[in-house]
Amino acid sequence: MQPKKNHLTINHQPSTKKNLIIGHGIAGALLGYFLEQAGEECIYLDAPDQKAATQVAAGIINPITGRRFVKSWRIDDLVPFAQQLYRKLEQELDIRFYHERPLVRTLFNRGDENNWQARIQEDAYQNFFHEPPRLGNIPTLTEPAFSYLEVTQTAQVTIGVLVDALKAKRKKEGRFYDEAFEPEQLVIREKDVQYGDLVADRVLFCEGWCARFNPWFGDLPYGGNKGEVLLIRLPNAQLEQMFKHRVFIVPFTDDLYWVGSTSENQFTSDEPTPEGKAYLQARLEEVLTTPYELVDHRAAIRPTVKDRRPFLGLHLTYPQLGIFNGLGTKGASLAPFWAKHFADFLAFNKELDFAVDIQRFK
Ligand SMILES: Cc1cc2nc3c(=O)[nH]c(=O)nc-3n(C[C@H](O)[C@H](O)[C@H](O)COP(=O)(O)OP(=O)(O)OC[C@H]3O[C@@H](n4cnc5c(N)ncnc54)[C@H](O)[C@@H]3O)c2cc1C
Repeated sequence: MQPKKNHLTINHQPSTKKNLIIGHGIAGALLGYFLEQAGEECIYLDAPDQKAATQVAAGIINPITGRRFVKSWRIDDLVPFAQQLYRKLEQELDIRFYHERPLVRTLFNRGDENNWQARIQEDAYQNFFHEPPRLGNIPTLTEPAFSYLEVTQTAQVTIGVLVDALKAKRKKEGRFYDEAFEPEQLVIREKDVQYGDLVADRVLFCEGWCARFNPWFGDLPYGGNKGEVLLIRLPNAQLEQMFKHRVFIVPFTDDLYWVGSTSENQFTSDEPTPEGKAYLQARLEEVLTTPYELVDHRAAIRPTVKDRRPFLGLHLTYPQLGIFNGLGTKGASLAPFWAKHFADFLAFNKELDFAVDIQRFK
C-alpha cells in the first residue's frame, strides 16, 4: 500500500531515534517527556473527538485504599517519584497543577475503626496517617460521621492541566497534531515505520481505553471501567482537604469541587448518564449540609486491565511498535514512574520489569 501523503514531519538529527506517539493523555505526554529528556525526538497524534480519562480525572494520589486500608502496589517508589517530577514540571512549564492535600476519610462504624487501628500499628504504615485527623471546614459543611481518619502523602494532580500545557508547548514546536491515527496508513518496514511522509523508528501507542481496538495490541486483556463525575460550586466552602464519604469531594479550581465517581465495568457509551448524575447527587445530599450549584457532569473510560498492572513493551513480531497503557484508576501516581521506566528501556536498553511487561501474557 502507498503510504498516505500527509504533513507530518520531524526535523531530526540523523543519529537521533524518532518516535511517533499515538495518544496524548498522561501516558503519552509523560512517555514523550522522558524520551525527549533522553535525547530522542517525538511527534504526537491525539484524536480530538475522544474522551480522555486524563481530562475527567481528579488526579488523586492516595497511597492507602479500600476498607482494609492497604498500601497501593509499589507506592513507596511511585509517590516520591511522582512528587519530584510534578514539581519539576510545574517549574519548567510555569503552571500549577500539583496540590499536596491531605485526605480525610469517613469511618462508618466500629468495624472500620478496628481495621484502621490494626493497620496503624504496623511499621510499614507509620508515615501514612496523621493523628488526630485535621478536619478543617469538614464538620461545618457535612453531616457528622461516626469518626474520621487522615491519610498523608496524598495529593491532587490536575493532570488535564499538565497534559494541556505540554500539548501547547509541543504544538508551538510543530510536533503535535490533533488527528486520529489511522492504522491502515502505517507501513511497517524492516527496521522502521512509515506513516504518510513521516519515517520513524517506532510507533508508541498510548491510547488509553481505545487501545482495545488497536490492530497490533488489541488482544491484551483489557478491562475498561466507566466513571462519571460532577463539578460543583460550593461558595465560600474553603475546603482544603480532599474528603471521602462514599464519594470523593475534592477541591479543584477556584470554588469548584470535583465529586466522584461512579464505577461501571459494563457500559454502552462513554457519555454521562442521568443514572450516574442521580447517583452522585444522592451521595452528595447524604453528606452535604450546605447548598451546592451543579456546574458540569462528565464521563470517561478508565483504561483498566485484568491483572491491575500497567502494560509496557514492544510487539513480539514488530519491535518497531510499542504500548504504554493500563494505568487504570491510578494514572496520576503510576504514569511518572512507569513512563520513565519505559523510556529507559527504549532509549538505554535497560531491563523492563516483568510485572509490567506485556510479555507476561505470552
Ligand atoms: C472518572 C474518572 C476518575 C478518575 N480519577 C482518578 C484519580 O483521582 N486519580 C488517578 O490517578 N487516576 C484517576 N483516573 C484514572 C486516570 O484518568 C487514568 O489512569 C489516566 O488518565 C489514563 O491515561 P492514558 O493516557 O492512558 O489514557 P487517556 O487519558 O484516556 O488518553 C488516551 C488518549 O489517546 C487518544 N487516542 C485514542 N485513540 C487514538 C487514536 N487512534 N489516534 C489518536 N489518538 C488516540 C485519546 O484521544 C486520548 O487523548 C480517573 C479516571 C476517570 C474516568
